[in-house]
Amino acid sequence: MTDVGETRDGFPFRFACRRSGNCCAIPGGFVRVTADERSAIAAHLGMDERAFASRYLQPDGVRLKEGLGHRCVFLEDGAAAGCSIYPVRPHKCREWPFWPEVLEDAALRRLVERTCPGITRLTPARD
Ligand code: SF4
Repeated sequence: MTDVGETRDGFPFRFACRRSGNCCAIPGGFVRVTADERSAIAAHLGMDERAFASRYLQPDGVRLKEGLGHRCVFLEDGAAAGCSIYPVRPHKCREWPFWPEVLEDAALRRLVERTCPGITRLTPARD
């Protein structure tokens, strides 16, 4: 059965992930992780939190490091790109592309729509 995708109130598109990995490699983008998320990811990786922070967090202690280029450090290569911490991926990643700020910021909405092949417009764009 074809996955027709998910819709949410107010969003002008539907979304069905195509495993492009594009959302995990946006130039200028970053993934901020909460304290609970940091703990969960460290536990998932079998690391203590200090070692996790040293290896995977930016010096600010809240953003994930980048891997190659603009890629998230946890984005795996392959025919279908995948998140190597998928079961414990951050909330922001789980919610893509249904971020509240996408509704408020037309430039961000256009970027999201350009980035993600899993997005299908439900209504014609007016901007
Ligand atoms: S944590 Fe996983 S889902 Fe989130 S940006 Fe990195 S690779 Fe993508």
